[in-house]
Amino acid sequence: MRTMDNILHVGIDDTDSSEGMCTTYISAVVMDELKHCGFQLLGNPRLIRLNPFAPFKTRGNGAISFNLILKSGKEAEKAKKLILNHVENLSHLQHENTNPGVVFHDGLITPELKAFSMKTVQQIVTIKDAQKLAVQVGAQFHEFKNGRGVIGALAAIGYPLKDKTYELLAYRIPENYGKKRRIDYKSVLEMNQKTYPQTFDNLDEDENYIAIEPHTPCPILYGIRGETPEIVMEAHAIIKTCETIERIVVYVTNQHTDHHLIKIDNISQMDKCKSYIAQGIVKDSPNTIEGGHVIFTLKDDSGSIDCAAYEPTKGFRDLVKELKEGDFLKVYGGIGDKGSLNLEKIHVLELAKVYETQNPICKCGKRMKSARKNKGYKCINCGFKLRYGIKDLIEVKRNIKKGFYEVPPSARRHLSKPLIRG
Ligand code: ATP
Repeated sequence: MRTMDNILHVGIDDTDSSEGMCTTYISAVVMDELKHCGFQLLGNPRLIRLNPFAPFKTRGNGAISFNLILKSGKEAEKAKKLILNHVENLSHLQHENTNPGVVFHDGLITPELKAFSMKTVQQIVTIKDAQKLAVQVGAQFHEFKNGRGVIGALAAIGYPLKDKTYELLAYRIPENYGKKRRIDYKSVLEMNQKTYPQTFDNLDEDENYIAIEPHTPCPILYGIRGETPEIVMEAHAIIKTCETIERIVVYVTNQHTDHHLIKIDNISQMDKCKSYIAQGIVKDSPNTIEGGHVIFTLKDDSGSIDCAAYEPTKGFRDLVKELKEGDFLKVYGGIGDKGSLNLEKIHVLELAKVYETQNPICKCGKRMKSARKNKGYKCINCGFKLRYGIKDLIEVKRNIKKGFYEVPPSARRHLSKPLIRG
């Protein structure tokens, strides 16, 4: 039986910038180099998405960890040197906001380490928190510049992957970086037809949007999301592209698990830079503001929060617009700088009854018309007049039903669980 002593957990984060590169790519190069040098990796590398509202994130706030099987201390030193050299050479160190961190840990994944990882997904932590914990659990950390990446690197090692999904990332050859990606739309359609829902969030047919394709100058050509390593490989075999794929990696990940959401009982417990599941009553009918964003206020006995379906959530906004004062909802989403809850999905628990008033019905069966001001009603069918009639209260049919509604794949956060995952 293998003991924990010969496993080296490696965590890497904060190597890229908005102008390019990607921590997943640097890790892919490092892993291939290690394999080339005869090292063996244990299991799939892990792509761990951290708090989507962390202030210094470049894009999707992802960090990487992988497990290396080592036979001797000498091997460990060789592997560490190789990893650190690659991170130093490939990172966008010239960018102010790129502060790589690498963590090596050959001990146990302690409860404290797991708790820190969960906290990094749901809250904001400091570099000091990460450094202190690394010392406490006996992990070695290497910081480039201010070393902020140590937070994500340590969190990626300690993250307890209970629910999990897989993502296959295909990387471009460097001469294509920044150029338009050439992915055959029909093959994505075919892949989706053959593998959905075992693969998911790879295509938004309503918007003709290829969700596997990033829109940044990073080295990723595409990423296929799915439930198992086998299905993402099967899906990858169907995709056709007009450019060379340099390498692929299948990551196991906490994407699409809702692990960023904190369940709370009171709206007043909400805070910026965190994501929640909360319930309350719609205070007023939704309002469309400049830019096409749809906003409504949700309240409970403790307070209220503005909930937003932003323009990129497309058709989801039409459903949100159907909400009315008094509807009882569960909302899922996170709070950014603006202080409003960015909706990822809603669960309509109860629909309020909505009424409209109509003129009374005449004894002949026809609906009456209003006569002149204060003159009551008049039937244009039989001529009957009603001096003191009262308007009827009619229940209006609602255009929304109880149940779950979610944003489309094109607007989904990495951590957000699509309804198709159950
Ligand atoms: P990419 O996904 O392209 O790799 P990114 O969006 O992951 O980029 P990074 O460049 O890794 O962004 O920057 C995020 C930084 O924020 C890292 O230094 C990471 O350690 C740190 N960080 C991540 N989560 C938290 C958190 N919860 N609190 C504080 N800092 C965090």
